[in-house]
Amino acid sequence: MSVRFARRLVELNHGFPVISFTFDDFPRSALLVGGRILGRYGLAGTYYASLGLMERDAPVGRIFSASDLNRLLAHGHELGCHTFAHCNAWETRPRTFGESIAENRRVLNQIVPGAVFETLSYPIRCPRPQTKRIAAEHFLCCRAGGQTFNIGPTDLNNLRAFFLEKSRDNPALVKDLIARNSRASGWLILATHDIAESPSPFGCAPQFFEDIVRCAIQSGARILPVAKAWGAICGAASRGRCSATKTRLSQQTDYLTSMSPKN
Ligand SMILES: [Zn+2]
Repeated sequence: MSVRFARRLVELNHGFPVISFTFDDFPRSALLVGGRILGRYGLAGTYYASLGLMERDAPVGRIFSASDLNRLLAHGHELGCHTFAHCNAWETRPRTFGESIAENRRVLNQIVPGAVFETLSYPIRCPRPQTKRIAAEHFLCCRAGGQTFNIGPTDLNNLRAFFLEKSRDNPALVKDLIARNSRASGWLILATHDIAESPSPFGCAPQFFEDIVRCAIQSGARILPVAKAWGAICGAASRGRCSATKTRLSQQTDYLTSMSPKN
C-alpha cells in the first residue's frame, strides 16, 4: 500500500543505462571482499550502515568497524544511512524511524567529522507512507526492494532494487535483468549483504559477485554509487531543463517531474 502514497515521483528517461552496487548493514566482508572486487575494475559501491550495529556479530557476519568507515570513504565508496538502530521500516513508528536517522547522522559526525549520508536504504521491510515522508526530508533518494530496475515514473522515496542473494543460484536471471536494464536505459540498483566463500542466506559468494560485476561492465552501463548515479541522471536531465532536484515533497499529493533530457 505504501508504494502508492507519499511518493516523490520523477520520470526517468535519461537515455543511458546505469547500475549501482549496494550493500546493506554492512558486514566487513562487503567492504573487504566485495569492495576489493569492485576496486579491481575501478568501481565503487554504496554501503548502507546502521552505526548502532558497529562491530557486532550479526547473521550476515561481523559488522564494520569505525576504521572501516574511513577506509570505505578513502576508496571512493558512498556511505549511506540504514538508520542507527536498524529500524524495521514497516513496524517502527515513523517518528522513531526519523529519530534513528538523526542519531545515525549524529554518531557518524563523531566518528568521521564532516561525513554525510546522502541516501538511505530501508531496513528489513518496505516503509510506511509517513516514514517515506520523513526520510524524504533527509535524503536525495531512498532505496527499498522490488526485484527490478527503475525506469519511467519512479518514486525517489522508494527506489526499486534487486537483491542478488535471491538469485545467487541463477546468475542467468540476473544477467537477463542487466541486459533488459541496458535496453531500457534504466537504473538498476543491485543489493546484497555479505560477500563470502560461505555466504549467509543474505549474501553471495565472491565468484558469483565478480561474475555479475563483469556482466554489468560488459552491458555498457555507467556503474556508480547511488548518490552519484542520481547526480548523473539529474545532469543528463538538466541539459533538458529538468528541475526535479529542486522540487519539494508535498504532504498531500504526488507530483510528477519529467526527467527526460528531451523535454
Ligand atoms: Zn539491513
